[in-house]
Amino acid sequence: MTKELTVDVVVAGCGGAGVEAANIAASNGLKTLAIEKLSQIGGNTKISSGFFAIDTKEQREAGLHLSTEEAIRQLNVYNHYLNNGPLTRRIVENAKPTLEEIENLGMAIKLNPTANTTQFAHRDNPYEGGSYHTYVNKPESWANVQKSVEKKGVEFMVNTTMQGLLQEEDGTVTGLTGKTANGEDLIVHAKAVIVTTGGFGGDVARVAKLMHTNRMRSLGVPSMGEGMTALEKAGGVNIDSHALIHASQLAKSKVAQNSSKEHLAGFSDNPLTRILLTPLMWIDPTGRRFTDEATIYDTVLWANAAYNIGGMYYILVDTDTLKAYTANKELSHFEVSKAGPGATDKAGDFIELAEKAVEGQVAFKGDTLEALAKKAGFEYPVLKEEVARYNANIAAGKDTEYAKPDQYMVYPIKKGPFYAIKAQVAYLGTVGGVRVDDHLRVLNEDFTPIKGLYTGGANAGGYYEGQSYPTYEGLASGFSWTSGHLAGLAAVEDLKTR
Ligand SMILES: Cc1cc2nc3c(=O)[nH]c(=O)nc-3n(C[C@H](O)[C@H](O)[C@H](O)COP(=O)(O)OP(=O)(O)OC[C@H]3O[C@@H](n4cnc5c(N)ncnc54)[C@H](O)[C@@H]3O)c2cc1C
Repeated sequence: MTKELTVDVVVAGCGGAGVEAANIAASNGLKTLAIEKLSQIGGNTKISSGFFAIDTKEQREAGLHLSTEEAIRQLNVYNHYLNNGPLTRRIVENAKPTLEEIENLGMAIKLNPTANTTQFAHRDNPYEGGSYHTYVNKPESWANVQKSVEKKGVEFMVNTTMQGLLQEEDGTVTGLTGKTANGEDLIVHAKAVIVTTGGFGGDVARVAKLMHTNRMRSLGVPSMGEGMTALEKAGGVNIDSHALIHASQLAKSKVAQNSSKEHLAGFSDNPLTRILLTPLMWIDPTGRRFTDEATIYDTVLWANAAYNIGGMYYILVDTDTLKAYTANKELSHFEVSKAGPGATDKAGDFIELAEKAVEGQVAFKGDTLEALAKKAGFEYPVLKEEVARYNANIAAGKDTEYAKPDQYMVYPIKKGPFYAIKAQVAYLGTVGGVRVDDHLRVLNEDFTPIKGLYTGGANAGGYYEGQSYPTYEGLASGFSWTSGHLAGLAAVEDLKTR
């Protein structure tokens, strides 16, 4: 059986980008169908916490005077000018009207003031902290948004998967194909097709190949990349898709029920995460130290540093450190990083916790460094030398290797038993994708728009440097809604002349 439909605009994938693109199309009188693979709309955008925008009423009320020019300058510098300039400018300029639009649709928003930014590295930068507009009462807010958008005329079809695009010989895209909830083939004819299927973070094999490592953990909705593949088949050029690497987790940590409901990001609220979230000694799987561990205070730099050695590392502690953590309930030496959801500063018996981690195969234990190396697979001569150097640096109060700030040179590795606790970089889906113009029209290899084809959010390329995600809070989620807004506007504009 085949179900065949004809509309003006069809949107595939209903995260922030798709919902806002559909909203704009329908608000401008276009017959709009939005299909979604899962049983509910929202995608990773619904899981995310907030939206990057500049010069908003929330900022003005908080006494923050942030200019779009400075935001553009900072993003360009951060991205080493590898980002698409016109796209970046239009996103930054249109974030504010898009935010206002989604607030009108019923999304409740609260500015996360600069002083409270979750990433310590951002504390002094208002553009990174004070531009984070967090979503409030997400289930209710999303239900409001859906209702408002439906009122404007958008028809949502859930449990419906886009599979491919319809394309004429001259390259014009004229619709899409898919499968409906009851397994029927679906053909939708449309003058504009907006593919906002959120990248391919659910396809772990594809991500592993792209990122050259299979040691990272995937978080988020299981987007398998049908949309990205279809965009590429239609002539789109994938310029920069990559995993949105973001913080790390203790290996195999169970997602606590409460935090999983709120974040799905999966930090355990076990006090052991204090070991993960403070700048102790980190080593790679061979036993070698590899970075300034104070990157822990920035989600992105922390993830980047660990990705650099494959995305899996160990936190090395000795018994005295664990005793100190047990005794030092306030953690006066090291503040617990909140660079990722679910951080805890709960007290606990850290030796007991480390023993449990060993039982749960999240950690290795050795009475001597040599025994530990044997169990964890480290090269003992490497580990021995690294520990000796680290201890000497702690004694001198100076990190001669990676310049970790002096105040973190506190805990040597001296008294066994020793523990190596495993951590893995997490990625929040993928970002980056096919080359677009600043209206989110998909460009072919000649840099010409493919007629009828638009994208946005985690399928669109040009907003990030590639590999690394800027440390600005809310950038991907804000890009999702705002790029969808612009894609919707472009489709409306283009359809006037067709
Ligand atoms: C745990 C987590 C936390 C995050 N927190 C933040 C944050 O706080 N701030 C921030 O800026 N970013 C955050 N991000 C990243 C951000 O949420 C995403 O990059 C962004 O929301 C992507 O938006 P999108 O609209 O492109 O995709 P999504 O919101 O993921 O939407 C894509 C939709 O397409 C659907 N879909 C997929 N394939 C198909 C198909 N073949 N047919 C039909 N539908 C399909 C999916 O089911 C999904 O609903 C987070 C991500 C995760 C996973």
